Amino acid sequence: MLITITVADHFHLVMPGWSPVALWSVAVITGLLFFAALLAHELAHSVLAKARGLRVRAITLFALGGVSQIESEASDAKSEFWIAFVGPLTSLVIGVICLGIARLTGWAPGSEPYTPVPAVLLWLGYINIALAAFNMIPGYPLDGGRVLRAVTWWITGNADRSTRIAAQVGQLVALLFIISGLIQFFSGKGFGALWIAFIGWFLLDASRSSYIHVELMSGLRDRRVADIMERDCGTVESHLSLEDFVDEYMLRSGRRCFVVIQNNYLVGLITPHEVKQVPRDQWPQTSVQSVMRPLRDLKVVTPDTPAVQALELMTREDINQLPVVSHGHLEGVFSRGQVLRFLQTHSELHGH
Ligand SMILES: [Zn+2]
Repeated sequence: MLITITVADHFHLVMPGWSPVALWSVAVITGLLFFAALLAHELAHSVLAKARGLRVRAITLFALGGVSQIESEASDAKSEFWIAFVGPLTSLVIGVICLGIARLTGWAPGSEPYTPVPAVLLWLGYINIALAAFNMIPGYPLDGGRVLRAVTWWITGNADRSTRIAAQVGQLVALLFIISGLIQFFSGKGFGALWIAFIGWFLLDASRSSYIHVELMSGLRDRRVADIMERDCGTVESHLSLEDFVDEYMLRSGRRCFVVIQNNYLVGLITPHEVKQVPRDQWPQTSVQSVMRPLRDLKVVTPDTPAVQALELMTREDINQLPVVSHGHLEGVFSRGQVLRFLQTHSELHGH
């Protein structure tokens, strides 16, 4: 809607003679074509990532652009370079093709077209070229930042260090955006300047979180679930009532997650979330077993699962803990809290 309104506003300015119906239908079509172009940009990233053996989970389109959710990182600098570069390249090619067809359908460079087809093509042409240019700004995690990361990776041979460098350049670029946006706004350049500051803020946030992500991943590299998991986790018998469970186990220990066992075998998991589904007055006659998340619905890991992989699984499934199971027996619980504590100790001991 935002894009359609922006486009309608633009066409209203350049072509005042159009009827409202013509104006809005052209604006809607242009908005849809713009999203198709964004999708093509993201598909280019995804297709190349898949060709290089990476898994692509989803593509999300939103007002500021799109994001391809590629699950794992490229294993070499060359793949990283092409996966990042192909997106802006696609936008550039689309932009140039749009301008070319606009030229063929009667648009003369330097003038404004008066008919819908070249007008739409001209707008799409410029916006796609602008999109390619914006994405090539060397601020990680923008495509340009990924290209920068791939190039430094190729030169230094160190993936972690190049991500740190790219993320720091990203923060610098973001600060420049914010400062120049604010200066322009206060010298009376209007709300367009605030947009620049806003994009800078968005970039700053994104590059900071990718920096943290790298620090996190380098702390967890070569670690297995068994190095981090909590071994003596809270266990509760399946036949217990919710009332006894809450009073005697959950409140007394302060733990939030308990594994449910039956004859020494793991049968499920229970957290405050499951307890809250049951009204308070029914707690005495409801058993833990009847509300727990049963084992067959749980994602589990083994002690040998790499810690990074377990963390990715938790993020993907939006859960806070994973039972660690080996040959049907519970070995421990791997949780976000454990990972945080582990990383804290790790950074205290290694001093960064
Ligand atoms: Zn991209």
